Amino acid sequence: MTALVQRYLDGILAEHAGVSQGALANYIPELACVDPTGFGLSVSSSDGYVYESGDADVQFTMQSISKPFTYALVLNQLGQDDVDARIGVEPSGEGFNKISVDQVTNMPKNPMINAGAIVACSLVPGRSVDDRFDLVREFYSACAGRSLDFDDDVYRSERASGSRNRGIAYLLDSFGALGADPDDALDLYIRQCSLKVTSTDLARMGSTLARGGLNPLTGRQVTDAAVVRRTLSVMVTCGMYDAAGEWVSAVGMPAKSGVGGGIVAVLPGQLGIGVYSPRIDDKGNSVRGMLVCRSLSQQLGLHFLTVSSEAHAAIRGVYNPRPGVRVYEVHGDLLFAGAEQVARTATRDCAEFDTAILDVSRLHTISEPARALLAGLSDDLQALNKRGLLVDPSGSVAPATAAYDDLVFATVEDALTAAGDQRS
Ligand code: GLN
Repeated sequence: MTALVQRYLDGILAEHAGVSQGALANYIPELACVDPTGFGLSVSSSDGYVYESGDADVQFTMQSISKPFTYALVLNQLGQDDVDARIGVEPSGEGFNKISVDQVTNMPKNPMINAGAIVACSLVPGRSVDDRFDLVREFYSACAGRSLDFDDDVYRSERASGSRNRGIAYLLDSFGALGADPDDALDLYIRQCSLKVTSTDLARMGSTLARGGLNPLTGRQVTDAAVVRRTLSVMVTCGMYDAAGEWVSAVGMPAKSGVGGGIVAVLPGQLGIGVYSPRIDDKGNSVRGMLVCRSLSQQLGLHFLTVSSEAHAAIRGVYNPRPGVRVYEVHGDLLFAGAEQVARTATRDCAEFDTAILDVSRLHTISEPARALLAGLSDDLQALNKRGLLVDPSGSVAPATAAYDDLVFATVEDALTAAGDQRS
């Protein structure tokens, strides 16, 4: 635990504690019964350490925060093509409970509005609503790293008052947009909205998304990185409904709110954030939750479009162990831009060596386009009458083909010996 981080979070909560704007959602009567002053903040690091401030152990219903998780579940179960055939990915620019369907295809505009979420529920596989709900609850619980409870009172309250969502479900059914019976799809939707979390659960669920589907607490790979990328994409464009543009500008993190007062925000690769404060604005977003996220982003520099100098850090060291030989040490997580820089540096400086040794033994991860680029560097250097050797003990760059046998070595010493042989 870092005392400084704890102080930051406590300070941010204190900064907004006095704000009393907004109101409890009362269109679901049971939601109007919660303590309006509840205020909790939790932040999970990408390795699963959680900082908590305020009412981080108060449970509340997920409501619409469930939507991205069920979307991820059906992407995981059915594959992206089948889901894309049923649910769009365009921001609707309308409120969460509007009947936003595409005029031509009759598909809901996106999975973050009720219409899209009800279609997503209709795609969850299972023989009964109970079966499907088990799958949903198990998926959410795997993301949170603990078994989530269900709020029967809120469920019954929304069932009894949910004419609007019932109307949406039946309309979708009349368009042929649902994959299941409308009552079943709606029932599952209301059940998932009634699952209970704390701000810490949300931070943990967020950190699972931040880690590309790997829950850092349990070590379980809950879903895969492609599913998470798609889910985070729609959270960016549609997660905060008609406040999405303002949110991306001011906060800059994929996020999802719920009328229960929760917000989950994700900084890919870095953090999961959960906030709870049940007074919401007229768009259905927690008033203090939004303020907290804004302060966090500004004070800790979390906006996901902050330009960093990461790509420049790809080359960790350059040295000449003997005349005519130059070693490039590459480290960290290498994406296309970093690999491009490594390849360009080596070819640009090739007048200064006969043999370049690319040491990738300290690479952590490498994307496929970056790998292909570095694997092709020997050929590029050969075209310039130079040798390019690779120190790649774990085979993270070089394909395991005979063509690379003379180019790939386990250590710099081995590569140096080979470079010497070639010179003589
Ligand atoms: N269950 C709520 C509804 O459908 C969820 C809405 C929300 O959280 N935005 O109205």
